[in-house]
Amino acid sequence: MDKTSTVGGTMYALMAELYPICRSITGEGVRETLHILQRLIPLEIHEVPTGTPVFDWTVPKEWNISDAYILDGQGKRVVDFQKSNLHVISYSQPVRQKMRLAELRKHLFSLPEHPEWIPYRTTYYNEDWGFCVSHRQLEALRDEEYEVSIDSSLTDGHLTYGEYLIEGQSQDEVLISCHICHPSLCNDNLSGIALATHLAAWLKSQGKPRYSYRFLFIPGTIGSITWLALNEAQAGRIRHGLVVTCVGDSGQFTYKKSRRGDAEIDRAAIHVLKHSGAAWTVQEFFPYGYDERQYCSPGFDLPVGCLMRSPHGSFPEYHTSADNLEFVRPEYLEESLARYLDVVEVLEHNRTCVNLNPRCEPQLGKRGLYQAIGGDSEAAKKQLAMLWVLNLSDGRYSLLDISDRAGMSFREIKRAADALESKGLLRVV
Ligand code: ZN
Repeated sequence: MDKTSTVGGTMYALMAELYPICRSITGEGVRETLHILQRLIPLEIHEVPTGTPVFDWTVPKEWNISDAYILDGQGKRVVDFQKSNLHVISYSQPVRQKMRLAELRKHLFSLPEHPEWIPYRTTYYNEDWGFCVSHRQLEALRDEEYEVSIDSSLTDGHLTYGEYLIEGQSQDEVLISCHICHPSLCNDNLSGIALATHLAAWLKSQGKPRYSYRFLFIPGTIGSITWLALNEAQAGRIRHGLVVTCVGDSGQFTYKKSRRGDAEIDRAAIHVLKHSGAAWTVQEFFPYGYDERQYCSPGFDLPVGCLMRSPHGSFPEYHTSADNLEFVRPEYLEESLARYLDVVEVLEHNRTCVNLNPRCEPQLGKRGLYQAIGGDSEAAKKQLAMLWVLNLSDGRYSLLDISDRAGMSFREIKRAADALESKGLLRVV
């Protein structure tokens, strides 16, 4: 199949375009990434100056890099940033010097258990430098003098992030957040960017949604801390939220609950996975992982979970050069987007109703709602869904509550509620 003829193919093509860019928590790579996304959605780009205090943190210096290499005694590039941006430890300070192998080795990192892969490392808050290499490359180095060059800069600049708000009928918000700070890494980073962008584009193409949707494209940790520090009042409008990451691999879906554990987003995501027909797992909240750590810090305690496929750290390719364009596939991206759309459908249409004919069952037949023909299991199911909605709609149970109690999908229960409302048997409270 033509890779670009499907939504998954389009998402994958976006990832392929973003893949070569050297991103970090600040710098031109982030700007270039956000500018590419602006072709698809009207992202607002924010620049927060170095030194800005953000709660217990400070916006760091801006890091940029143009080239880096290690030359052997013959002047040959044995490690070359131009071949993979993972070769340089992110936030490496500039360096240009000659040294013997013993000294150089202190600055080299490899993965002996996966000798062909290059690890991904950072040194954001500790001024240092280093190279990541495949273990094969490391083993091939002879004891000679090397010339090391990292042409980078660490200067007063900005932390850059992207934001897009789709205004809904309500000022209550749904937050969709993804990190944009990893260089050539696909599942961790680019898959979330591709999904969030396409979800935003889809929502924008629809009519005005019930909720307002806020999309954040931010560097991990320092980005969410910065956004929360600069938008503390705004954060109170967030009613539901999801951190998007690791949505392009072949693993089964995993939902990590918000700190609250029983928020509507937790119940909606779990409901969707339960009715997806595929295997899935749920994780209780724990204070590690992605930006949900900040959104779920006790001073905010926002209802933000994380809907992913394979969780970070659970696959060997995580934070290595093997998290590449082969590791993610269009069909998995497309399936992940479909699950997110299912969750959005629940959030948009969940409501609590009252049965306007609560004394015994209303007669469905005379209203054209009773269409069961002997043996028509679909009609019987529709009727049962209506009976559940009528019975539990006493103003205490939402349609999601009713779906879970009835063991039916939200879509079936919503359809029944729509039919009952259209006949004047049900009213939203
Ligand atoms: Zn990561």
